[in-house]
Amino acid sequence: MFIVFNRDLQKGEQVMLEISYHGTPVKMLENTAINWNKDKNNKPWICTATEGIGTHHMMPCKNMLADESDSCFIRVGVPKDLVGVANGKLDSVTETASEKIYHWSVHNPINIYNISFNVGDYVKLEKPYKDINGIDQKIQIYALSYNKNIADTFYNQVPIILKKFEDLYGVYPWWNDGFKVTETKMPNGLCMEHQSGISMTDAYINIFKGINLILVHEISHEWWGNSTTAFDYADLWLHEGFAEYSGPLFVETNMGKEYYKRYIYNFYNSTKNKRPVIKPYDVGYNNLIHHDDQDIYNKGALLLHTLRMELNNDSLFFKTLKLFQQRFAKSNITSHMFISFFNEETKMDFTPYFDVYLKQITPPILEYHINKSQADSITLEYKWANKLPENFKLKINFWNEKKLNPLYPSSTIQQLKFPSKDRYVFDIETSGYFILKERK
Ligand SMILES: [Zn+2]
Repeated sequence: MFIVFNRDLQKGEQVMLEISYHGTPVKMLENTAINWNKDKNNKPWICTATEGIGTHHMMPCKNMLADESDSCFIRVGVPKDLVGVANGKLDSVTETASEKIYHWSVHNPINIYNISFNVGDYVKLEKPYKDINGIDQKIQIYALSYNKNIADTFYNQVPIILKKFEDLYGVYPWWNDGFKVTETKMPNGLCMEHQSGISMTDAYINIFKGINLILVHEISHEWWGNSTTAFDYADLWLHEGFAEYSGPLFVETNMGKEYYKRYIYNFYNSTKNKRPVIKPYDVGYNNLIHHDDQDIYNKGALLLHTLRMELNNDSLFFKTLKLFQQRFAKSNITSHMFISFFNEETKMDFTPYFDVYLKQITPPILEYHINKSQADSITLEYKWANKLPENFKLKINFWNEKKLNPLYPSSTIQQLKFPSKDRYVFDIETSGYFILKERK
C-alpha cells in the first residue's frame, strides 16, 4: 500500500493516519498470529505472537525490522470480566456499556514483531526490584486467576535473572515502560520476548535448579533483539545467538563453571551446519520456517563461546559486550557493526573468524593423526581439513599427561612429539567449536 499526501510533509513533523481494518487472521505454518484459546474455566484466553508469521497477519504495518516506530499505543477492548494486556505501561482503563478498554503505551522504539496483546481472566501480581542504579522498580506478572499462587512463587526467579543481565549488559532498557510477564498459550508452548511484556506459557516448570532457562532466554532478548535490533532478518543471529549464549552465562555465575560447560556441550550436538548463520539480505528472510536455519540459535551461541575462548580475556570480552549494548542501545545494528566494534575494542582482527562461523556452512575441521610407530615417542599430526581463510586463527587445546599444549593449526600438516608413556586426550569442552576428525 502506498500513501500519497496532499501536501509536502516537513521533516520531523508528526501526522496521524487512521486505518480501519477487520477480518479473520489466517492460519499458516501451523501457527496463527492470534490464538483463540479457552482457559480451564472455559473463559476466552486470546494470545498473540507474530515473529516469523509476520505482524501483517495481525495489523497493517511496515513488516520490517529496519524502521522501528519510536512509540506505540495499544487499546484493547474486552468484555468486562476479562483483562487486556499489552506492551508498555497501562495508562488507564475506560468503560463503555458493554466493555472495558485497556489503554497501553510504549515510550520507546519497538520492533514490529514485539508488539502484542493478550486477553484473559488475568490477575496482576507485583514484585519489588532494585535496579542496577539503586532505583526501586516493580516487576509485574499477569497470570490467569486460577494460577495466581503458582505464578507468584514461580516468578520469584525474575529479580535474580534481571540482576544478572543488568550486571552483564547494563541497566534494563525499558524501565520507563516497566517490566512485565504475561501468561499465554501459543502452539508448541511458544514463549516470546515481547518488549516490556514477555509472553510465557502456563507450564510453570523450572527446568534447571529452580530456574526456567526459557525465561532466561526471553529476558536477555530485552537487550539482544529488543534494544539492539538487526536491520535485516538476515542478521537475526544477533538476537537469537546472544539470547541463547546468555543461558550459559547465567548458569556459569549462578551455578558454576561445570554447568556452563555442559550447556555449551549441548549446543555442539544440536548444531546442524546445513546453512550459513547469516542469511540473504534485503529479502525479508524468514529464519523460522526451516529447521536448517535454527543454527542462528545454537551455532550463534557457540561462536560467541569460541570467540570468548579465543580472546582469552574475560574482563575485556564482557566489557566489550556491555559497551556495545550502551553504544547501540535502542537502535538497529548489523553483523558488520558488531564485528567492527569488537575488533576496535579488542584491538585485534576477528574478521576471518566471523567469516568462517557466520558465512561458511562447515565450521573448522581439525584433522589429526596419532603416529605410534616410533618406540620412544608419539607424534601428533594435525591440520585444518577444510578450506579456511589464510589468516584464520584458532587456538586448540591439546592435553597430554598434565600439560596443556596450545596448537595453532593451519592448512599444512604440523607435528607435536611427546614421550610415548604420556596420555593424550583432546579436551574439546573448554576450547572452541570445531569438528574433530581422526585420520587413521
Ligand atoms: Zn529467542
